[in-house]
Amino acid sequence: MRAFRSVGGTPRFLVSARGPYVTDAEGREYVDLVAGWGPAILGHADPRVIEAVQDAAGRGLSFGSSTPAETELAELVEARVAPVEQLRLVSTGTEATMSAIRLARGFTDRDLLVKFAGHYHGHSDGLLAEAGSGLATFALPGSAGVPADIAALTLVVPYNDLDALTAVFAEHGPRIAAVIVEAAAANMGVVPPLPGFNRALVELAHAHGALVISDEVLTGFRVSAAGWWGLEARDEASAYTPDLMTFGKVIGGGMPVAALGGSAEIMQQLAPLGPVYQAGTLSGNPVAVAAGIATLRAADGAVYERLDATAATISTAVSDALAAEGVAHRVQHAGNLFSFVFGAEAAGGEVRDYATVQRQESWRYAPFFHAMLEAGVSLPPSVFEAWFVTAAHDDAAIGRIIDAAPAAARAAAS
Ligand code: PLP
Repeated sequence: MRAFRSVGGTPRFLVSARGPYVTDAEGREYVDLVAGWGPAILGHADPRVIEAVQDAAGRGLSFGSSTPAETELAELVEARVAPVEQLRLVSTGTEATMSAIRLARGFTDRDLLVKFAGHYHGHSDGLLAEAGSGLATFALPGSAGVPADIAALTLVVPYNDLDALTAVFAEHGPRIAAVIVEAAAANMGVVPPLPGFNRALVELAHAHGALVISDEVLTGFRVSAAGWWGLEARDEASAYTPDLMTFGKVIGGGMPVAALGGSAEIMQQLAPLGPVYQAGTLSGNPVAVAAGIATLRAADGAVYERLDATAATISTAVSDALAAEGVAHRVQHAGNLFSFVFGAEAAGGEVRDYATVQRQESWRYAPFFHAMLEAGVSLPPSVFEAWFVTAAHDDAAIGRIIDAAPAAARAAAS
């Protein structure tokens, strides 16, 4: 993800970051729309977070024992996200989803996992699986080094397609331990769930005795104080209760913290209370947890209002610039996450799955990206990534993005 492979050119090596800006090794400053791939909702090096980290570091780096701060972080999460009755801290989103899947398998005593095409849940073997052709298939390995037998335990289904999911349950229901889903997909560009999709998915899985793991590593504490779950919980027609949820990124405020949580009945199957093994030398690390607590405490309603407004301003300005140059595109939103899909097909219709996203004119993004970089704006180096705003993006930073957009749109048009 850090590579420039899909846009070409030489990656910048960054040496510092403050507020909405990052600075490269040659001293050049850019307005940043990567935000460390999501964690920096307050902006980089927020003084409250840095101070908390420095204080914690002064008391020791790692104790190999439980700490009161872990409990405090868990309480902050549980106060925001009702389905989380118990929380286990780990260090990366990959660990969180890997452990959630093991827990689901242990709890249900079943072996198959269902995931959606284009959804990313980290790099554990069973999740690096891509669909072969067909509506829903046993997956083929999506990476060298993943044994075919492991990939074959994952079923891949098109996103936002309840018929395909229903068909998979009809065929394999008694063997399916869980469905794992990005609460709103944002690793193939942004593709939100259709209204009611998450709710229907939970109902369908439960009807077949399977669990739902809602992956909020990217959306959690970013799109609202209660993540994507919180946005959908506002409307009874879309509200849903996943069995397990996974978190990362914002929960660590830029330090390595991630978590899995859910119903106490299921979580108690984790070791040491239950038979499902899980451990980690650095889990709940006190310095990392301090950054997470400081970030969640600071992320109040005003922060989310600011993120939403900034995302709307930037996405509208860039979309207008593209339209002015005649570049067919569609802006995709999931709360304050957004991205652009290029081409007439996307512009003219709904983008609801990976196949549609893949058919876009993705080659337009590289010249667009480099023109923005040239003008001092650092975008995610792939059309298949979300753009991340922070609460520190002030008028000056937003103005630089808006000023850079027309030339970048011209580059995308050619
Ligand atoms: N799940 C989702 C939805 C993600 O976006 C990511 C990372 O981008 C992960 C899991 C994996 O997290 P990590 O990179 O911390 O292992």
